[in-house]
Amino acid sequence: MKIICVGLNYRKHAAEMGRPLPPEPMIFLKPDSALLKKNKPFFLPDFSKNLQFEAEVVLRISKLGKGISAKYASRYYDALTVGIDFTARDLQHKFSQAGHPWELSKTFDGSAPLGTFIGAEKFQNHSDISFSLEVNGERRQEGNTSDLIFSFAEIIEFVSGFYTLKTGDLIFTGTPSGVGPVKKGDNLVAQLAGETVLDFYVR
Ligand code: MG
Repeated sequence: MKIICVGLNYRKHAAEMGRPLPPEPMIFLKPDSALLKKNKPFFLPDFSKNLQFEAEVVLRISKLGKGISAKYASRYYDALTVGIDFTARDLQHKFSQAGHPWELSKTFDGSAPLGTFIGAEKFQNHSDISFSLEVNGERRQEGNTSDLIFSFAEIIEFVSGFYTLKTGDLIFTGTPSGVGPVKKGDNLVAQLAGETVLDFYVR
């Protein structure tokens, strides 16, 4: 399986990163070794001094597809949750400044904690789903899919023009503003439409 991620998909997050809005979805992949399931702890890697959380709505692909048009995209995922796109921000900046791919800063082991899935049919309107992240009980990120620059359907249309989507693939759809660093002992709790789907510790 593959984990497809969208970068800079919320205006306020692009602004906080000091980046222009992308004219088309900005895509990168994480390997399956990045997955962290069942609320297992995330172990801080020693290669970064600025490891940051990015809470994102995640789609679970349920059907093989390629060249999917946006109007049929909702048939290709069956569940949603919240995941964390952990990012070694210091490495990302270093690689960016050198003009190199920043892959390593986002794709290392454990960089994709994944919540419990909720069936897609439970949500009336996929363009109006709220989600949030609390760190140690304090609300740090709040988002709503109505603020996505590229909707779920537009993302699926775009990425399926490059990659065959397969059952079990995941799409991380981008983070809202409020990203920040984690430290040992932090407890991260994410909610999707008011339901807690992810609850784990940083070790
Ligand atoms: Mg992200």
